[in-house]
Parts: sequence; structure tokens; C-alpha cells
Amino acid sequence: MRSVEEHQSVVAALIATREPVTVAIGDALGLVLAADVVAPLSLPGFDNSAMDGYAVVAEDIAEASDDSPVRLPVAEDIFAGRTDSLVLHPGTAHRIMTGAPLPAGATAVIPVEATDGATDTVSIMAGVTPGQHVRRAGEDVTAGTTVLQAGQVLTPAALGLAAALGLGELNVVPRQRVLVMSTGSELVAPGTPLQPGQIYESNAVMLAAAVRDAGADVVTSSMTEDDVAVFRAELETHARDADLIITTGGVSAGAYEVVKDSLAEEVEFVKVAMQPGMPQGAGVVWETPIITLPGNPVSALVSFEVFIRSPLRAAMGLPRPDRPRLTATLLEDLTSPRGRRQFRRGVLDPSGTSVTSYGPPASHHLRWLASANCLLEIDEDVAEVAAGSEVRVWDLT
Ligand code: AMP
Ligand code: MG
Repeated sequence: MRSVEEHQSVVAALIATREPVTVAIGDALGLVLAADVVAPLSLPGFDNSAMDGYAVVAEDIAEASDDSPVRLPVAEDIFAGRTDSLVLHPGTAHRIMTGAPLPAGATAVIPVEATDGATDTVSIMAGVTPGQHVRRAGEDVTAGTTVLQAGQVLTPAALGLAAALGLGELNVVPRQRVLVMSTGSELVAPGTPLQPGQIYESNAVMLAAAVRDAGADVVTSSMTEDDVAVFRAELETHARDADLIITTGGVSAGAYEVVKDSLAEEVEFVKVAMQPGMPQGAGVVWETPIITLPGNPVSALVSFEVFIRSPLRAAMGLPRPDRPRLTATLLEDLTSPRGRRQFRRGVLDPSGTSVTSYGPPASHHLRWLASANCLLEIDEDVAEVAAGSEVRVWDLT
């Protein structure tokens, strides 16, 4: 049997980073920058007012107080967005709004709260120091500065900065496009009536969600019956649109193992020393890497976590591609099959110090996985873990 680490390496080697692309900033949230962003202009782009008030020459109102206001004629009304260039003459004021361009000759802004707010002749009851309430051009960003770096994840604030700099598009590492296919003649889509012996399809829905949750795109998520011709036709239709194919089911030791029967040439089918998720496969079909996961829903999702999630995220340049791993104190006795790495569903307490397993080890108990917040990883050479032991935990939250 292949070890978990060996199969992790095989899968990771198949998943490749795509060439950078240019995307509109509105579509770039969560993507990783492929190139540094150098500011094409300064921010602010021009000296402007930090307050609603009056642009003045500071010396003109140096003596102003409540008892002896300074009265100045208001020569202009400057709203934010005014584009004509204005000159303030000493002994006058311009009414000015926050963000409006400071007129040439003005040295400060007196906030409206320190005035009577008049629009013809304003009475000013306080002084200002030169430069007060003025935002200087370039004090946030100087043109030519590297403001965002390649490898940085585009957050809302980073996108806001790009927009403020007038950049409508950014060069990014594109998302991986993942084709998810489930197989099984017993499967029907949720929302349609069930015949006896049929079950609702859950893996494609679950894995598509896991792919998106990992930051990648799902190109198609489909299911096919256990028929080699049908399966291969469906695969061929979609394979070239994808960077990665994930299938579920049809890889174990029974008859009607459609994935195994269809891809004997292209995929290496192996047993991995783990529980759940022993039957695995990896290869390349129609030039696209393919990972074949077992069909039991818990096996499928645990296999995605163990083999696919990290390299998928790493291929998109995402920092911290791995789930956080920690050790916590186990609050109960557990057994584990010797010779296999066991991944049990668990509940980690909010402080992250103690953990219990959650639900039975068998791989069809999806209910427990649905409310677990971690996986417990128990080594191959361990058959019993006593309460109070430290165990390795994968934080799934
Ligand atoms: P297989 O690996 O195809 O032998 O499937 C193992 C078990 O998982 C069987 O009980 C299947 O019915 C079940 N199963 C396989 N694929 C799915 C799926 N997409 N959704 C729900 N259950 C599935
Ligand atoms: Mg099947």
C-alpha cells in the first residue's frame, strides 16, 4: 500500500499553476497578484480640503476669536469635483467642501464649525496654523511607489487602492478550473423522485462546494451512470475546459467499477494506507490531471482534504494552502486500524485545546462530518489512543 505522503506527492505533482491573466478589479477578490502594482499617480492627486469650511490665508485669521471674529468676503464656493483652477486673494475666503481642490494662495482651511457659515461675508471665530486641515498631494501614495506586491491576496482594501489609483484591471494568478464528476447508476439528483434502490447524489454537490471553498472554480459538476462509454464521453466533453478533474466512485474492488474500467491506461489506481479513503487513483486524461476519489461520501470529502485541497490552493498562489494543524488533548479512548492512517471526524473545543471524536469511523456517516469542525489524524502504527493523549488535529473551520 502507498503511504498518505506518497500519494500526496503524486497528486501535488499533477496540479500546475496557470499562466497569469488580467481580470477586472470587480472579479479579482481573493485572487493572488501575479505582478507588483506600481502607483501610476499620487494619492491624493492634488492638495485638497480635509474639512467642510473655508479656505483662507492662515495669517488673515490669526487673531480671530469668539470675542473678536474676523470677517472675510466669500469670493468662491468650491464643491468637491470642481475642476477649474482658482486663486484665493489675501483678505478673502473661499467656502470649500471636504475633498475639494484647495485654491492656489490658500494656506489652511478653517472648519465651518468655527464660523457662522455665511456665504457672502463669513465671520470666523478661531485661528488656524498654516497647512491645517489640508491634505497634501502625495501624502498617502507617491507616484512610482510599489503599493501592492506579487503574491499578495487581493482583499477589499487592496481592490479599493487599485481603484483609487485608476487601475481597472489587475494581473493575477487565475483560479484553477475543476471538473467534478460523480459516478453511480444508483444516483439521482436531489429534488427528483427516488425509485427503490436509488439514492440522492451528494458527492458532486459536496466536492463542488469544497472546490469553491478552497478558492477554485467549478467548471462542470455532473454525474454519470456506471457505463464506460457514457462516462468516457462525458469526461471527454468537459476535460479540456478543466485544469483538474475530480471523480468519485467506481474505483474499488467490485464489479461495475466504471472509473477503473474506463481509465486503466491513463490513471494509476492504488491503495493508500488510510481510513477512510483507501482506493485512490491519479493520472492524466486528455492532457488534464485527474484524481479519482472513492464514492463513499465521507471518503470522498476526507480524500479531498488530505490530497487535493492544499496543492489546489498552492497552485493558485494562496498563502497558507494547508489547513491549520494543531495538537489537542483527546477526551476519550479511541481505537484505530493498525497499518492505516485514520482520519476521524472530531469536535475541537473553541479554545483549541481538547477534542473528541464525532460519529463512527465508517465512511458513509455523512451526518457527523456535516457537524464536525476538525479531523483527527491518527498514525498508522497506533492501534489505541487513550483519553488524555495529545492527538494531531486538522482545523476545518
Ligand atoms: P463506489 O465507490 O462507487 O463503490 O461507491 C461506494 C458507496 O458510495 C456506495 O454506497 C455508493 O452508493 C455511494 N456513492 C457513490 N457515489 C456517490 C455519490 N455521488 N453520492 C452519494 N453516494 C455515493
Ligand atoms: Mg459506484
